[in-house]
Order: sequence, then structure tokens, then C-alpha cells
Amino acid sequence: MDLLSFIEHALVELNHSKSAELGNRMQYIGSSDVGSCPRKVCLQKTCPAGLPDLSTMLKFSRGHVAETLLIEIFNAGGVKQLYDTQVEVCHPVYPLKAHIDFLFYADFNGKQQLHIVELKSVSGIPDETYPQWIDQINFQIGLLKLKYPKQKVGGSILAIDLNAGELKQFDGFEYNETLFSYLVGKGAHLLDCLNGIEEPQPAPSFLCAYCNYRSDCPSMTVPEVELPPEVEALASRYLKLSEVRHAADTKLRNITEGLLGFTGPSFRGRSDSIELIASTVGPTAMVDGKLLKLQYPDVYPAVLKERAGFTKLECRPAA
Ligand code: SF4
Repeated sequence: MDLLSFIEHALVELNHSKSAELGNRMQYIGSSDVGSCPRKVCLQKTCPAGLPDLSTMLKFSRGHVAETLLIEIFNAGGVKQLYDTQVEVCHPVYPLKAHIDFLFYADFNGKQQLHIVELKSVSGIPDETYPQWIDQINFQIGLLKLKYPKQKVGGSILAIDLNAGELKQFDGFEYNETLFSYLVGKGAHLLDCLNGIEEPQPAPSFLCAYCNYRSDCPSMTVPEVELPPEVEALASRYLKLSEVRHAADTKLRNITEGLLGFTGPSFRGRSDSIELIASTVGPTAMVDGKLLKLQYPDVYPAVLKERAGFTKLECRPAA
């Protein structure tokens, strides 16, 4: 039973049927487009990349899994009658649309309101919402307000990390007329780009990591790329955590010395909550590469083994 090829084939079908629910995305600008890089959006619509690989399709499916889980949670909590999923809202003039993940018609206490929940399935919940998420939810709120001008309209972003078992709500998004006009302008600009009236420019962000058009993207090939704010924030978090790890490593070394002073080279002890074991690994022999090369230059190339390359990340305070 070849499960892998079956799943690969079936995943293509699953992703097709899920994207079909959103209609023909070539013919309109969606809320995720408005928050994205204009170059990527236009290339996705004019030169769609081939089929994504298995790993990418599985990552896409993570969002569907999270959505199904949330539906089950809401229903188990007895609020099935309060919301709809995948609600389509359109601009009355331009082909601008949004598909709202969850639209609540009342709060959990029954108070009437329209509240959008945009679900984000992530690997690692960010401290702050990404600018692209903010644009996306504000665009959805704006389109919903056009449909229901007299109602209070708001929204939340719910980030869920299924692997880590964590979730976080970013709440408090409300209708903002100025911001919505700006986002409609962004949508109109994308339409002009698609119609060849304007040239779409690259706008680097953390989403470049998932971009199919990165290899020849001008913003990724300049001698030194200007870091987008959310990537800078992530790098600065990395830097801070590295410092914490360095400080922890130093403390751990000191504590290890103290504990080994107590245990000696061979020990086993326990309390109600901790087990402490010390053991000694005897000396081992290894080949001295330099000496081998020097004394047996003919043998040296024959015992070389290729080591796979890897990508190294360096993150340090700017000088
Ligand atoms: S790599 Fe980044 S900036 Fe370039 S097209 Fe893709 S998303 Fe846009």
C-alpha cells in the first residue's frame, strides 16, 4: 500500500476543492492580496506557479485543519447559531472581495454585533500581529461595514500553533474609514497593475519566505536588502534569546561544576522531585586528520567522506 503517492495525489484534489470555494482568484482582488506584495500578487495571477510540493500542500492544509477544529470547538461550546463561515463580502464598484473565516452576529453574551474572526495557523505565534494581517482584517471589516452601514463591526485575529498547542487572540480591530479608503486604493492599484496601467513593485516582508517568485525578485538581489519591520522584530527576538541562552549556558557550566563536585565521577541519587546521575565516559580514539594528511598523503583523499552543506544564520547587533 503506497500511502505517500496516494496522499500526494489526494492532497492536490483537496487543495483544488478548497481553493474552488474562493472562486476564480484571477478575477478579483482578495483581502489577502491587499495585504501582500504587489509583485507577488500580480505574478500569482498572471503567471501562476506549477503545483506546490507535498510539504507546501501539507502546510496549506494546516489552515483547513485549524478551521475545522475551531468549528468543532465553537459548536461544542453551544454557539453554532451565532456564526457563519467563509462569508463572502464584495465592494459595490470594484472587483474587490473578502472571504471571512468566521462571522459572528452576536457576542457570546447574546449582545448584537458583527465580529469577524480571521484564523491564522502558524508555526510560532508572533508577539505582535504582522502588518499584512492587519491590512487583511481591516479590509474585511471595511467591506462588511459597506454591507451593514448601521451596525457596529469589529474583528479579531486568532493565531493558532497546533504543534505547540498554543493560541493567542489579537483583539480590538474596529472600522476605520481612513484605513479602509487606503486599502481600497491599494486594491485599485493592484487592478491597475494587472491591467498593465502600473508596474507592480516588490514589497519585502516575512511572507517572502513562502514566495514562488523570489529567485528573480529585484528586492532580494540588491547588495544589501532593507529588512522589513516584522523581520527585524523577529531577528531582534532571536538576538535576545541567543543572549539568554548564552547566559544560561554559562550558569549551567558553573552549576555543573558544583554538582560534579558533590557527586564525583560516578553517582546516582534522588529526592522526591529530582533524579541526579553522574557517569564517566572513558577516553576514545579518533583519527587526526592533519596528521593523516601529512604522513599518508596518498591515503587521505581515499578516506574523505562528503558532508552535506547547510545554511548558516548569523544574527548580530549592527555595527
Ligand atoms: S520575494 Fe518578497 S518582495 Fe519579492 S516578489 Fe516575493 S513577496 Fe514580493
